Amino acid sequence: MKLGSNANFSAREHAAREIDRIGHMLVTRWDRSLATHLLSLVSNLERYILGENVTQLTAECGQLRELLQQWLLQNDSSPDESDRYGQLRHHLGIVSQLGMMETLQTLPDHDANGLSAQGPHLIYLWMPPSEKAHNLAEQLSCYGFLVRTMHQASKLAQALQEATPAAVVAYTEFSPTDPIFALADTIRGLCPLLFSSPRYDFEARVQAVRSGASGFLAWPLLAHELIDSLSFGDLGEKRDPLRVMIVEDMASLAGLYANVLNRHGVDALQVTEPARVLDSIVQFRPDLILMDMYMPECNGMELAQIIRQQRLLDGIPILFLSVEKRQSIQLDTLTLGIDGFLTKPVAPDELVVTVINRARRYRKLRSYMINDSLTGLLNHSHLYAQLEYEVLRAKRDGRALSLVMLDLDHFKTINDTYGHPAGDEVLVNLARFLKERLRRSDLISRYGGEEFAIVLPGTQTKDAVRIMDALRQAFAQIEQRSGQQTFCQTFSVGVSSLASATDTTQLVQQADDMLYLAKNRGRNRIEAYTPEQTLAGRGTSGS
Ligand code: GH3
Ligand code: MG
Ligand code: MG
Ligand code: MG
Repeated sequence: MKLGSNANFSAREHAAREIDRIGHMLVTRWDRSLATHLLSLVSNLERYILGENVTQLTAECGQLRELLQQWLLQNDSSPDESDRYGQLRHHLGIVSQLGMMETLQTLPDHDANGLSAQGPHLIYLWMPPSEKAHNLAEQLSCYGFLVRTMHQASKLAQALQEATPAAVVAYTEFSPTDPIFALADTIRGLCPLLFSSPRYDFEARVQAVRSGASGFLAWPLLAHELIDSLSFGDLGEKRDPLRVMIVEDMASLAGLYANVLNRHGVDALQVTEPARVLDSIVQFRPDLILMDMYMPECNGMELAQIIRQQRLLDGIPILFLSVEKRQSIQLDTLTLGIDGFLTKPVAPDELVVTVINRARRYRKLRSYMINDSLTGLLNHSHLYAQLEYEVLRAKRDGRALSLVMLDLDHFKTINDTYGHPAGDEVLVNLARFLKERLRRSDLISRYGGEEFAIVLPGTQTKDAVRIMDALRQAFAQIEQRSGQQTFCQTFSVGVSSLASATDTTQLVQQADDMLYLAKNRGRNRIEAYTPEQTLAGRGTSGS
């Protein structure tokens, strides 16, 4: 990645590094000739950026220059050492980092073109009119996708101008005259392009890669295969961007790092107060924490230890960012369980590569640790820990929270009729479905067997019922498959909320009771706990 293509930028980067290097010599020992040299470096940098639209850097250079000029006019003992040290460190940090990062013009926000993790995802299907295309569109809509099917190149071009979809999925036999190849460049500039083809040969695959396809799927295209390819890898990250938390007491620096990461599709949260870090971690669920080593309230090492002491947070990678160049200190932090060290000022490329690779790796590892291996959903014990936290938080903030228990109906019969693997496939379909249709902030878990628990923070009973009832109806329409056979699967739901329960145990008990009630009242339905609820039929039959 390059921030600017002109030679000016590399001169600027060089000047920034030099300012940092000389400046830090001055931090340890005040020396007039060194200070004069630093002053000239700052003036050089100011000349490089003259006329460029880098307002923050211009202002910060001006402040550092005035400070140096003022000190050079005073006698050597004023200001005192610690005062000088603090001011110099602050200004050097900002000027050198801005010098390397502040862009020449603001680039468009990556997310504007990416997929949204919320709301219905728009998909353009480019394929010949057929019963299959129609059916696929219908199945995808059950999973919450908004699908537009198109058969003419002009229609697709026009649709792309009207709205940017989450992805374009195109049927092709790789004939050189297929108009999709003429449109491929335009599509890729906007969103991922996936091919579906009856051809599997090497030549076809090479052609797909050369036209920049993000995915290659077999034809006939199955809804769940398409959904899977939209959830993993690069595509998945576009819909659910990597999350990086930046803990840095200097807001302007935090903003710079966040900008650089944003431009690469990373969702960056800036935290300037160490005391807010733990709460923010649980809410934001970062894939990595980028932490300033020196902060006034609490230093990075202490904060990292606090984070490592929380069982659920133990594995999150922590990268330190610091002006610290001494190797012995860097090594100390590594033994404390810090994952790496970036020296300020950090070059944008280095920041991006280091952060993204580690965050990606952790996201994958964590998904193995805390997720159920069949469905990829949160497992039972991790749900409990998260639920406890969400309940405490909701009570503290006076916010609503609902808990949903969901159980597949007559699932034993499905296993008996179509076999256990077909049953497994239904469980996976349900997991995909819930992930697509619920919000990112909702916790979805496989509670055990064919039972699922869902935590809906900020949601009252009546809204939880409305949401789950829509899901119940949509899921019942999904075609489940076993070889050539298809069948439908329903589920029953019990809902409880903090409006009636005082703690987690009670919340779980009430949702469970309601699930039994839904089963007893005929299945494929929802029951919600109300304080005057009569538990008719509780425990008389059912699962
Ligand atoms: P109900 O509507 O009352 O819930 O009926 P049910 O048949 O779904 O309930 P029951 O508790 O009698 O049976 C649950 C079935 O779920 C039995 C078990 O084999 C199946 N099951 C549990 N875990 C899995 C799994 O991981 N894969 C498959 N294929 N089946 C599973
Ligand atoms: Mg700091
Ligand atoms: Mg069941
Ligand atoms: Mg059950």
